[in-house]
This record gives sequence, C-alpha cells and structure tokens, in this order.
Amino acid sequence: MSIVARCRLNTEIICEKTVEKCPVCNLPASVMPMSLHGQITGCKYDCSRCGTFHLSDGAQRALLIHQGARIDASLLSHRIRKMQNSRNLHGNPVVMYEADLSTYVGQPAPSPQEQADNLILWIGLKQNARPEAWASSHAGALAALVGAPVPLDQPHEPGLVSLLNQYQAVKYQRADLFDADPNKVQGQLSFRLTMKGWSGRVPRSGVGAVGK
Ligand SMILES: [Zn+2]
Repeated sequence: MSIVARCRLNTEIICEKTVEKCPVCNLPASVMPMSLHGQITGCKYDCSRCGTFHLSDGAQRALLIHQGARIDASLLSHRIRKMQNSRNLHGNPVVMYEADLSTYVGQPAPSPQEQADNLILWIGLKQNARPEAWASSHAGALAALVGAPVPLDQPHEPGLVSLLNQYQAVKYQRADLFDADPNKVQGQLSFRLTMKGWSGRVPRSGVGAVGK
C-alpha cells in the first residue's frame, strides 16, 4: 500500500502512527495524518534524516507521482532541515504545499564546497565561540543539514563520511579545520573547530548560514 493510500486510510479509520518510508529520502519514517485548521489535509512525517515536516495532499501527490523524479532528494532533505531551524517559523511546523515543491524542480543539490562551508558554519554556531565546546548531532540529521547526498540503499551516510574525511584533523600529523570526538555517545557524532577552522572559515560577525 502506498504512503498516500495508507495515510488516507488512517485519516478515515484508525488515525494511528505507522512506520513507512520517508517520501523525500526513502529512509524509515513514522507517518500520521496532518491536521490544519481543524481539517485533515495531508500527512505528518517524522524522519531521522529530514526531521519532522508536513506534506499537504497536493504536495504528496506531486512528490510521489509527478515531480519526485525531477526534484533532487538531497536538496529537498537539506532544505526541509534548514527550514526547521529557521527563526521565521516562530515555532510552527514545516508545511510543504505543491507550489513549494515546484520551486525545487530542476534545482541542483549543494555542491561539495557548499556542504563543507555548511558543516564548518554549523560546528562554529553550535560551539558558540567557545573553544572547549563540542557540537553534536546524529549523522542523518547532520548530513541533511549540510546538504550531503541522500544515501542510496545504505544504512549509513557515505556522503557525510567522505566530507568529514576531507576536513577532519589528523592527530599528531596536522591540525585541520576541526577535530572529532572518538567517543560516540548514543550514536551521536561530535566535532570541535580547530583554530584554523575558526580563523579561515567562520565569519567574525557570526555563524549563521546553517542552523539558525
Ligand atoms: Zn527523510
């Protein structure tokens, strides 16, 4: 049964949360009916990579049937994650309508350089200019936030890992842009900018491009 059909079934009969695949990144996600202004008009998804977002009925139809093949999944996952951190939402959920999706048709995913810049800015923002602090995130959420490629049929994030390997400091050989905590707590990855990372990549006026 498709996600659309299952969600509509939920709206009419059981209204229970079920586990399906995220229509954006194709990883496991919980899905339940979405209510707006007292009416059920689509589905709410909770994905470990993309986070929580709502799709209207029209957006689901467009994404799953018409526009999905023409919208880059890595770009859409990235934009949804960024929107969740936007101050403009004022605590409201991310809701995507069909018209929103049309703006992503044919748009390119973030380039490797853009991903690297997003990663460094995110670490700097989370450290809040404190050299001893660490920035932590789950791999999927961080991958989406920086714009790394959506993994294809793999449980891990090879795009993010490749990016990390480019910039991670190598102990006793050279100090690059950031250090990584070898102790992963509850599946989290932790990072801390080196002075080179601070001096070369983070604007002195603030770190605001990602994860505002
Ligand atoms: Zn997802």
